[in-house]
Amino acid sequence: MGKVYLIGAGPGDPELLTLKAARLLAGADIVLHDALVSGGVLAKISPVAEVIDVGKRAGRKLLTQDEINALLVFSARSRETVVRLKGGDPSIFGRAGEEIEALRQAEIEYEIVPGITAALGAAAAAGISLTDRRVASQILFSTFSREAADKVMDWGCVTSTTTLVLYMPGPDYAEVGRRLREAGLPADLPCVIVSGASRKEQETRRSTLARLAAEEKLPAPALLIVGRVASRSIAQCSESFWKEEKKDRTSQHVSVI
Ligand code: SAH
Repeated sequence: MGKVYLIGAGPGDPELLTLKAARLLAGADIVLHDALVSGGVLAKISPVAEVIDVGKRAGRKLLTQDEINALLVFSARSRETVVRLKGGDPSIFGRAGEEIEALRQAEIEYEIVPGITAALGAAAAAGISLTDRRVASQILFSTFSREAADKVMDWGCVTSTTTLVLYMPGPDYAEVGRRLREAGLPADLPCVIVSGASRKEQETRRSTLARLAAEEKLPAPALLIVGRVASRSIAQCSESFWKEEKKDRTSQHVSVI
């Protein structure tokens, strides 16, 4: 019986892999990877390993989650070192939970090797501190629910000192802006779109929730960092937001509290 390593591939730059991840990739017998994993990281895989792309391509799934779970269990019964390679960190929007459950049920040994999640790669790309103490006290990693388009996100915990990192925002920036506004975030709240963080095609665009609809679409993978930390001038931003907050309170538009 082999062992399964759920490994975080980081945001793209192979130099952002952990030493442990690189060592395991070099010694793997079989690697099951997602579409998000960069070519530079795939190049670190042992040349004799079997490599299977189980990811999504243009919204079309190559394998269902159940099929991936079954393939992991099957692989661990015939190979020694099985690697499940996921973009960023396996535990952040990575469906690691379902795979771990399947491995536990099949009594297969597993280990999680953390990676640098896209939020951290994106913050580095944009040159911002997610917890800049002048304006932020917490970070929320979130995403929109895809299954039910009309389901409202439970963002009651977003305050004026929250930095919101929105994974998988999708290409419809107008809708993203609208949904964030509906969640109570102010129109002039700064945000930054980061595409291909840590990759050579990396791009960042600073905006505000109000201007988001008019922004040019950046290629996937992209995410959105929303909050006062995304402002070019933190000091100015603090001032205007305290005003916005007071206005919200008196007119009972709570949400940014
Ligand atoms: N487990 C991954 C996230 C998987 S969800 C992690 O920890 O990073 C996929 C989403 O992650 C993408 O839609 C995008 O929003 C974000 N993402 C992944 N890699 C990225 C990158 N290099 N730059 C910007 N966003 C990225």
